[in-house]
This record gives sequence, structure tokens and C-alpha cells, in this order.
Amino acid sequence: IAAEITVAPLPAALGRGATVAIIDQSVADEAEQMRRDFVANVSHELKTPLTAMIGFIETLRGPARGDPKARDRFLDIMEREANRMNRLVADLLSLSRVQAEERRRPSSEVDLPMMLRGVLATMAQATEAAGVEVETEGLEGSRLLPGDPDQLVQVFQNLIENALKYASSGGHLGVRLRRIEYEPLMRGPALAVDISDRGEGIDERHLPRLTERFYRVDTHRSRAQGGTGLGLAIVKHIVNRHRGRLKIESRKAEGSRFTVILPEKLTRA
Ligand code: ADP
Repeated sequence: IAAEITVAPLPAALGRGATVAIIDQSVADEAEQMRRDFVANVSHELKTPLTAMIGFIETLRGPARGDPKARDRFLDIMEREANRMNRLVADLLSLSRVQAEERRRPSSEVDLPMMLRGVLATMAQATEAAGVEVETEGLEGSRLLPGDPDQLVQVFQNLIENALKYASSGGHLGVRLRRIEYEPLMRGPALAVDISDRGEGIDERHLPRLTERFYRVDTHRSRAQGGTGLGLAIVKHIVNRHRGRLKIESRKAEGSRFTVILPEKLTRA
């Protein structure tokens, strides 16, 4: 941080009870730049499907007029693009809600193995359609943890959806829950959930940036799979709110493992 902070006596005119804000300009500039990049990214992401839709509307009004086959095909594409925009707006709203709540501790309690069994049951059709074999471990019984149920469901859904999206067909999905007796960073016991796949894997150089908003290894691939590029950013903020950790391990062509570690108790630290 390159800003210079000068310490000076408070001007007498401010009087008692005055608040003095010392703003670190380099941090403020960086935050402003990130905001600008984010707005530019969102605009671009929304503009791509909009431009496609406008193009198809023009074609339907002009050259393809009176061609029922072309009309059906173009309507299908327009529907797909509209759905993409819908997903993007839903993810943006999710992200903004999660960020707004990040400092508020979750006040309810969740039963983690029961939650994971529920998520897998609601996704059974999708896993079957993806031709993926599911292997679970440690999901029996009940283990309680302080957490926001809707948000944690979203974490596991996003990670499992990714494992299905990026797993080669006929692949493998692993969901494992284990207890860590003492997690040093959390200064106490924790529960860890591993979501693993034997899919395409991720090159090491991408790993540190994977949870950035709109960061994708392959934008075409992500778009073709219906991805918005926001899933892991949402996961990261939710895990932070729970004072937890997200660990990503991956090897190209072998597969990936995303581990969510959540403290069993929320301490003040
Ligand atoms: P997207 O909507 O693009 O899937 P995410 O934020 O969920 O966005 O993920 C960001 C990127 O991380 C993806 O575009 C993909 O390149 C990579 N990725 C995420 N999960 C996996 C996985 N299980 N295997 C391989 N790559 C993954």
C-alpha cells in the first residue's frame, strides 16, 4: 500500500465528537477499478445474448419471413438466449444478496449430512442425465452446524452442478463428508465436504483466480454449458460468511476436488 498517512492534530473547528476519515487512496482506487471492471463485465455478458436476439428478430422480420422452419429454429435460439439472461440476472441478485449479508453471522442450525442427502436427491435426475456414477461417504446420520440453510444448499448445488458440467460423460461424482477434530485456522472442530469429479481438470495456473466473478477457464465451454461464470464467486462469499474455507485441488485430465470446510462453532475470531 503506497498511500501516505499524515497524523496531525484535529482542527479545533471540528470540536468534540467529530469523525475523521483517513482514506487510503490506493485501496479506494483499486476498489473503484474493480467496480468498473465488474460493470463492464456485466454489460458485456448481458449484451451478448441481447445482440443475438435482436439479430434474430431482424432476420425473422426480413429474409426468414414466411419460412416456418427458420422461424421455429430462431425462436428456439432466442428462448435459449433469454434463459441465459434470466440465469445471469438470478446469479447477480444472489451474489449481491450474499455479499450484503457477508458480515452477518448465520443464526440457524443445519444438519449437514441430511442437507447433502437432500441436495443429491433433488439432483438425481441431472446426475442420471449426465451419465455420472455417484459415490458418497459419511452422509449417514446427523451432524449439526451453525449455518444458513438456503445458502449452504446453494454452495453444494453449485459445486455438484460444476462437477457434472465439467465431468466427461460416463464420469464420476464423489460427495464425502468427514469431521476434522481440530482445524487450526478455525481453532476447533470442523466438518469438511469434498465434491470430486474425474472430469477434465483445471490447469494449475487458473486455480487462484477461479473464484473471481466471471473468471472462466474456457468462456465458450462455460457458455455452451449454460454457465454464468458467477457460481464459484457465490460459493466463496457464502463460505466466507460461515467463517469457512474453500480448497480447490485439480489436475489436468484427471479431475478436480472442491472441499468446503465449515467450523462446528462460530467463534468471535
Ligand atoms: P461457470 O458458470 O462458468 O461454471 P463457475 O464460477 O461455477 O462458473 O466456475 C468458473 C470456472 O471454473 C468454469 O468456467 C470452469 O472453467 C472452471 N470449473 C469450475 N468447476 C470445475 C470442475 N469441476 N472441473 C473443471 N473446471 C471447473
